[in-house]
Amino acid sequence: MYKYFASDYAEARSKFLMAAESADVPLWQFDHPLTGPNDEALGTDIVWLGARDARHVVVAGSATHGIEGFCGSGCQTGFLTENWKSRLAKDIALVLVHANNPHGFAHQRRVNEDNIDLNRNFIDFDVETPQSPGFAELHPALVPEAWDGPIRESADAAIEAYKAREGLPAFQQVTSRGQYNFPDGLFFGGSGPSWSRRTIEGFARKHLAEAKRIAVVDFHTGLGPRGYGEIIGRGGPGDPQYERTVAWYGPDVKSAVVGNSASVRLNGTIDFGYRRSCPDAEQTAITLEFGTLPLEEVHEAIRADNWLYAKGGAETSPHFNSIKAQMRAAFYGEDSKWKQDIWARGQEIVDQALNGVGN
Ligand SMILES: [Zn+2]
Repeated sequence: MYKYFASDYAEARSKFLMAAESADVPLWQFDHPLTGPNDEALGTDIVWLGARDARHVVVAGSATHGIEGFCGSGCQTGFLTENWKSRLAKDIALVLVHANNPHGFAHQRRVNEDNIDLNRNFIDFDVETPQSPGFAELHPALVPEAWDGPIRESADAAIEAYKAREGLPAFQQVTSRGQYNFPDGLFFGGSGPSWSRRTIEGFARKHLAEAKRIAVVDFHTGLGPRGYGEIIGRGGPGDPQYERTVAWYGPDVKSAVVGNSASVRLNGTIDFGYRRSCPDAEQTAITLEFGTLPLEEVHEAIRADNWLYAKGGAETSPHFNSIKAQMRAAFYGEDSKWKQDIWARGQEIVDQALNGVGN
């Protein structure tokens, strides 16, 4: 199974496409307008396993947060290689969406080409965008003008003072819920639908229109215990979607609404795109979140990468290589134990999704 995992986007895409060809499954390719760091083409590639008219569909997506795609891409290539097509009942399909955010994946960033956190971009921009009280106070310290010296030191001191005053959970909630007022800031949800959102919603409207039940499994990394896959459901007890999630995946389901998840409550996650595109289907969505490093180290990596592109000159910065290594460690386990854990858990969860959606 180690061969399912790649070391960069181009390799991940190539493995996925070769596995798709061998599996002889329908493939749709959506070309991204930009290129990768080595001028390679970028795109979102989608395959369909099982009956094209299946009414029950599991959509398993990767790289909503670009660099987190190593994890989900490895599992998607595994599902194709190990012939999961053959295990599907006749009214069930498994749709694999490879690289929701290919630009972020290729450039080893969490955000997309516009500094958008794609998993905050699926809000209804026609109504008022969510406000983020508290974020304005933190923004200048989160993205300091300089990464060294007194400017950085005073920025770090301001962040530490905020954490000491409000607590780490409040800091995580305020910074990461998704904000819509600072385009160069952290967890920016955008000012309109991104290329990735338009691509995903367009595909869903066209190809998932006949689905009666849709299960969304979105692969992520960076939160929770290392190598463990936390199932993050939507809503809380009494909410039919949440109750289905617990029935399908068991009592380990976590929820930011319940307050027992490694994640805080978020604005505009990707499942809203599928719901908006397929309003008549029953939807059961989870985020599958695999841990890597402790939360504060992951947050520091995200902050560093944001600074690198907002203020640091990106590739021209002397900090470029060290920050890229920091990002990679924060979002990709790389060691064989981590890959084994991801593949075992990824199979278990997608299998549960297929059983759940079919019953
Ligand atoms: Zn993520």
